[in-house]
Amino acid sequence: MSDTLAPVRPGKLIINGEAVDAASGRTFETTNPATEEPITTVAEAGAEDVDRAVRAARTAFDDGPWPKMKAIDRSRVLWKLGDLVLQHADELARLETLDNGKPIFESRQVDIDMVARCFHYFSGWCTKLGGDTTTVNPNLFTFTLREPVGVVGAIIPWNFPMIMVGWKAAPALAAGNTVVLKPAELTPLTAIRIGELALEAGLPPGVLNIVPGKGSIAGEALVRHPMVDKISFTGSTEVGQHLMRTAADGLKKITLELGGKSPNIVFADADLDAALRGATMGIFYGKGEVCAAGSRLLVERSIYDEFVGRVAERAKKMTPADPLDPKTRLGSLVSKHQMERVLHYVDVGVQEGAKLVAGGQRQPVNGKGAFVQATVLAGVENHMKVAQEEIFGPVLAVIPFDDVEDAVRKANDAFYGLAAGVWTQNLKRAHTVARRLQAGTVWVNMYNFYDPGMPFGGVKGSGFGRDLGAACLNEYTQPKSVWINLE
Ligand code: NAD
Repeated sequence: MSDTLAPVRPGKLIINGEAVDAASGRTFETTNPATEEPITTVAEAGAEDVDRAVRAARTAFDDGPWPKMKAIDRSRVLWKLGDLVLQHADELARLETLDNGKPIFESRQVDIDMVARCFHYFSGWCTKLGGDTTTVNPNLFTFTLREPVGVVGAIIPWNFPMIMVGWKAAPALAAGNTVVLKPAELTPLTAIRIGELALEAGLPPGVLNIVPGKGSIAGEALVRHPMVDKISFTGSTEVGQHLMRTAADGLKKITLELGGKSPNIVFADADLDAALRGATMGIFYGKGEVCAAGSRLLVERSIYDEFVGRVAERAKKMTPADPLDPKTRLGSLVSKHQMERVLHYVDVGVQEGAKLVAGGQRQPVNGKGAFVQATVLAGVENHMKVAQEEIFGPVLAVIPFDDVEDAVRKANDAFYGLAAGVWTQNLKRAHTVARRLQAGTVWVNMYNFYDPGMPFGGVKGSGFGRDLGAACLNEYTQPKSVWINLE
């Protein structure tokens, strides 16, 4: 049997360089949402395990070699981890697809590449982080050291489980921090495997600890732990708000990457074939379980009817299918619970007066799974729930607009501000609209592109702080001012 078809091993906690069981001996089952069958069991971290992991990270930071290592040696370890991700690409991609339900095409061709690039890109930063010398007074030598913050608690969601390990751990480690990472309970497998690969790459014990478990127990223990210096969170708004309140008690730094309801704006002068691809890929990629999904499609009124027709036609061709089939482009939602939530929103949209022009139904594959059709709601008004609330599924709300002012007003009339798309061939309009949109990322004549070198994060209800790019290193370092008296 090839490695990629082998049964999945039970998952353990990774604490202080070892794969271990939970202190309580508790485990939980992780399920394949496409087949509804169990994949394997996973050790379930409790507060005691989180405490052990945090203490290991604390010791590794305070006394261990990682922050004191030569920058080039830290860089080499992270680069090697990127290489190991590529070497285990088939195995990791399969684990991700089994656990999350996303098409293997996405796990293998997109996610693996992103994870590897995160470790490769941030390995380069190890040798380039530095402070400033300043000119306060000729009788003084004043400079800043750029230091790691210490122990980072990373809490990640289920939609991009392995990419999120790269987004959080790579910059934190590059800056010399140690990390305790809690994967989402629905999708713990790839984080555990990357934790094992990190040890193989030469990461010293305690530097990267993985504690799968419940948010309300393991996550809560991590955020409350007095030895954690910083929390980096991606997930829902409600949990983000709760974590911020909790972090305030311990005066911990916190970064929040929350949801979105991102507008994808199509002007009549756009290359409409490209815009059509961007509009559908913008929502149906990742089954719409993407925080930056272009879930509000704003279309100029003069082309509205025709464009809606083309979007609906394209959506109807996107049939949900077996996620392990390389040809599949629409997989299973992450869980039945998420499926119910998404289908409920479709009903709400119809009750609010939207017109269902494609999809809207569950469509099991081989009689099973949390598959939902690619769904398009037309005639949506911006105040409706389906235009304002994050659905987190393959459901597109299409809203007409009259002119640039109307487009910008509707785009910004939202609680969230994560991302936005603009489709136009008018250069001046592209630039001016990009500036006026309240979003952390704006894509012009493209959608859903990411790179470790480009910061990602939100404004308004989408949170604050940034993942990726040079900007995210500010989240994981702090300046120390040193004054030397030369008199
Ligand atoms: P969530 O916010 O409940 O979970 C995200 C992570 O936080 C998980 O690891 C979870 O275990 C942990 N967590 C939950 N409660 C916690 C607590 N009290 N203390 C510490 N950690 C805790 O998100 P979810 O249940 O996975 O998804 C719910 C909704 O969140 C989705 O439907 C979607 O709208 C949104 N979401 C957004 C993103 C994003 O990328 N922005 C990702 C996933 C989900």
